[in-house]
Amino acid sequence: MSHVFPRHTKALPPMAVGGEGCYLIDASGKRYFDGSGGAAVSCLGHGDPEIIAAIQEQVGKLAFAHTGFFTSEPAEGLADMLAANAPGDLDRVYLVSGGSEATEAAIKLARQYHVERGEPQRRHIIARKQSYHGNTLGALAAGGNEWRREQFAPLLVNFSHISACYEYVLRRADESAFEYGQRAAQELEDEILRLGEDSVIAFMAEPVVGATAGAVPAVEGYLKRIREICDTYGVLLILDEVMCGMGRTGYLFACDYDDVVPDILCIAKGLGAGYQPIGAMLCTKEIYETIENGSGFFQHGHTYIGHPVAAAAGRAVLTAILERGLPERVRVMGEKLDAALREEFGQHPNIGDIRGRGFFRGLELVADRETKEVLDPSLRTAARIKKAAFEAGLICYPMSGTRDGRNGDHVLLAPPFITTEAQIGEIVEKLSSAIGSVLETV
Ligand code: PLP
Repeated sequence: MSHVFPRHTKALPPMAVGGEGCYLIDASGKRYFDGSGGAAVSCLGHGDPEIIAAIQEQVGKLAFAHTGFFTSEPAEGLADMLAANAPGDLDRVYLVSGGSEATEAAIKLARQYHVERGEPQRRHIIARKQSYHGNTLGALAAGGNEWRREQFAPLLVNFSHISACYEYVLRRADESAFEYGQRAAQELEDEILRLGEDSVIAFMAEPVVGATAGAVPAVEGYLKRIREICDTYGVLLILDEVMCGMGRTGYLFACDYDDVVPDILCIAKGLGAGYQPIGAMLCTKEIYETIENGSGFFQHGHTYIGHPVAAAAGRAVLTAILERGLPERVRVMGEKLDAALREEFGQHPNIGDIRGRGFFRGLELVADRETKEVLDPSLRTAARIKKAAFEAGLICYPMSGTRDGRNGDHVLLAPPFITTEAQIGEIVEKLSSAIGSVLETV
């Protein structure tokens, strides 16, 4: 018996022993196509020699130096590269060990920024239903995924949630996508006014919603309107690109597509590509200087922030993404994946929506395409598709999400950026057989 405390306590999953390109290999020798990069992590695939060499070199030189005493060359190098490539005036980079640490740090930085500006009455964070910002208690309070939150309630109280920008379900037949986006954004202004126009610290959102919804991009104009509303009321805009950033959508940062610059940007997953645990919070010069000229100390920190080996991996991953032209590749290949999914599932009676950007794609499962009625949650369709796909040698990321209170099933795909056209065929074929075997019995 193993003493590991597994995610699901009833069964230990197979043991992974190796990774080669887009495939993971278990102890029995079985190969799995990593069609979701775990959870949108392994963007370069497995066993990339350049990343391995960068890690080995760094660990040989300096494995750890506490940031209370030292900076390190890879941490500075990665921060400089991120700042040089980030949109707008996102200028300072706070390196952490993962996504929840990045969002948690963002929440605290936003609060401290307002306090140091003399606005301590700003106490509310607004986020969206059907979102996920991490599993620490602050990040969980920001997230709008009910099943993750409910057993930990009451969570931090000063968090509220407006509707997601969710065109497939929430757009009315009598409005264009743009009009819908403006209406959805208006909910933010209404909520700010309800709370008091100088009471809100920040608004937090994923530009393309990942795990809770299955690659749902904001409609055109939505984030621009959100930016305007935030500016009007002095509310900071925090964009969570933990899943959708680092080239995943075909742009280095997802918000590049929307041409919107947040005040704080959170990244993780693809930043280390799974080679090391690393995340980052980027903030504007203005936020940084407010702290610098105020207390001079961000009241936050974890032991492993700015970890030299993790930073060396992050720098090597970012270099690979840029030098290999991967965002551009993902844009082109993402269209091919989209076309293949539409060809296979476009007429499927239980697939209501196919969506996403780049190599971040989602399929939404429904009982009825006309009414968009969800499948009976007790059927656990997403979980069964995950299992059937895994047995067929495909790792994908099906989840039951919440659609403004209703449970719905979707499948998320986030393959490595090196996925070939033939491998797109493999993903679609295996997914189709998994979905077919599960839905046959529905
Ligand atoms: N934010 C988003 C959008 C995520 O998808 C996730 C993880 O799935 C997180 C934050 C939390 O990241 P981590 O699991 O690395 O703590």
